[in-house]
Amino acid sequence: MILSPYLILLIPVLYLIGWIYWFLKHKRPSLNMPRIISFHKISNTPELGGTFNTVKQFESFIRFLKMNGYKTARIDKILAEPEEKEILIFFDDAYENIYNEAFPIMKECGLTGVLCPVAGYIGKKNLWDRGLKRFRHMNENQLKEMSEAGFEIISHSMSHSDMRRLNKESLIKETTESKRTLENLLNKKIDYFIYPFGLYNENVKNAVKNAGYRAAFASYNEKNDKIDSFAIGRNTMYIIDSKFDLKIILERKPLFLFGHEDQKGRIINWFSRFSAVIKI
Ligand SMILES: [Zn+2]
Repeated sequence: MILSPYLILLIPVLYLIGWIYWFLKHKRPSLNMPRIISFHKISNTPELGGTFNTVKQFESFIRFLKMNGYKTARIDKILAEPEEKEILIFFDDAYENIYNEAFPIMKECGLTGVLCPVAGYIGKKNLWDRGLKRFRHMNENQLKEMSEAGFEIISHSMSHSDMRRLNKESLIKETTESKRTLENLLNKKIDYFIYPFGLYNENVKNAVKNAGYRAAFASYNEKNDKIDSFAIGRNTMYIIDSKFDLKIILERKPLFLFGHEDQKGRIINWFSRFSAVIKI
């Protein structure tokens, strides 16, 4: 197929329109926003939604952070007074491969992270992602060991459902029972929540507040110029990302490239969410 020059010209034009839309909708990012990068699976087995990184790739990201003076801090500190090179590293769904592959590399580099286990799936195989393989979640002993090594644990619900579709009773169960389960297991207070698939509405937010959480994390900042402490945005690292992408995400400049990273993440997230909720 021969592409007409007009069609080729359309690509940068569409891209520019997308970028302007991003800027108008989400505003200019504030440099004081907490810097949070997220990973799902660290594995050499491909996954349909692209939410995995190879072990080698993860190691190169962690060594980049270490070499460039980035430090991991506690969530409390990052939300109250984030310093320029302080970051959070999230591990959504707390897969067993995080314990096996990511934990040794992070220990070696003196970094810690935030684990987000689904309380009803501890030690069980994942049921909501569609891929070539069912990934197992960390078991109780693995969570305890990483918690004792300085990793923070936050609640990611009981069942990893789209919480916008749940009734009031189920919302209470997802928020309070997951909190209690993790508190009993770790003997530590669980103060933070992360929405399954990053999806929430006002009812979901209220259920999280009423269950006694201090803040909650979503996938993105709805508005980049102000922090909603019950929908704090993050940037996810995907299989297609390089250290250059990581650098842009953490420095948030140049702004047009950060806009590109953010847009790219939103599009991939949309597809991976779709691959996770379709019934195959
Ligand atoms: Zn999740």
